[in-house]
Amino acid sequence: MSGSALFDTFARAPLAFERGDGSWLVADNGRRYLDFGAGIAVNSLGYSHPHLLAALNEQAAKLWHVSNLYEIPGQTRLAERLVASTFADRVFFTNSGAEAIEGAIKTARRYQFVNGHPERFRTITFEGAFHGRTLATIAAGGQAKYLEGFGPKADGFDQVAFDDVDAAENLIGPETAAIMLEPLQGEGGIRSFPTQSLRRLRDLCDQHGLLLIFDEVQCGVGRTGRFFAHEWAGVTPDIMAVAKGIGGGFPMGAVLATEAAASGMKAGVHGTTFGGNPLAMAVGNAVLDVVLEDGFLDEVSRKALLMKQGLASIADEYPDVIEEIRGSGLMLGVKCRVANATFNAALREEGLLAVPAGDNVVRLLPALTVTDADIRDGLDRIRAGAKAVSASLASAAN
Ligand SMILES: *Cc1c(COP(=O)(O)O)cnc(C)c1O
Repeated sequence: MSGSALFDTFARAPLAFERGDGSWLVADNGRRYLDFGAGIAVNSLGYSHPHLLAALNEQAAKLWHVSNLYEIPGQTRLAERLVASTFADRVFFTNSGAEAIEGAIKTARRYQFVNGHPERFRTITFEGAFHGRTLATIAAGGQAKYLEGFGPKADGFDQVAFDDVDAAENLIGPETAAIMLEPLQGEGGIRSFPTQSLRRLRDLCDQHGLLLIFDEVQCGVGRTGRFFAHEWAGVTPDIMAVAKGIGGGFPMGAVLATEAAASGMKAGVHGTTFGGNPLAMAVGNAVLDVVLEDGFLDEVSRKALLMKQGLASIADEYPDVIEEIRGSGLMLGVKCRVANATFNAALREEGLLAVPAGDNVVRLLPALTVTDADIRDGLDRIRAGAKAVSASLASAAN
């Protein structure tokens, strides 16, 4: 938009939405869109979920914010519930994914510091990673396009090729503190680390006294059909960063850690003004009420299968447009043979919203509450989008 007062940091589609209901968004021109992007995996329970609305409204009438100088019962409760359902013993709440990652990195460095290894501060990461946009998290992500023009890359991050565990092993040195990865890369193009690699990384960390950090900001909180994606592999981290889906649309994140890994994080060492405020905690607890309900995650897996099978048959029909379908649960990627932006635009023409990713992939991240009918409707739109792109390829060839 020319003359906009905003930073030009986003190449925005010329679309503005007024309201949402379930998996549907209504634009200000009245057109309805089926949203398979869900705010990039943030709106985990869709729009206007009655339980989240009630929790937010009830808390809003009582208290919005109190400082972390005082006890916040909603924080204690949410932390206890996260601890009860994961590997973790301790939780620190943040406002965003990048802050959760920064908190995770700081937790690992402090662990080494208080355990007699102040020289260990480096973190090994993997190519294609996305860990956020702060100065430390762009260094951790290691992507040139996000680092360029922001001065020297923050020290303390070493990167190896995606899934190259041998290279990671070779890179471990006297200054290494941690290894960090997304078990299922989101922005990198829906790429999963094989279970075998996760096991080997766990073993390497144990052998060398390093901490294993999982970034489950995008793949966590039910997205893959388990509460956290690493549960599929049966490999647990020492520290985990969570955000996006845990707030169901309310900005929040968390660092989860074992008792040992959190041992350096004492009073005054780290902090936040907004993190864990009562509004965020009310919504986070309400999200867990739904996601941890008996059978909810099984339903995610069932619907995911429906979706993946449908996508596979569309890929068979249009091999000129789609190379493969990848991903896990309701975190799926369409690897394109045409430019992913072209396919994404074709989907939007059909009234379906998706999210481009690296490696020429279009991400499909519907709300975990997506209905079977919405999945069938979405598959019809995706097929129509693939057909339109295929037709334009054919006419360009003639
Ligand atoms: C989105 C994302 C982040 C950064 O989260 P923000 O809330 O945008 O700071 C970090 N890691 C992963 C895997 C993400 O998908």
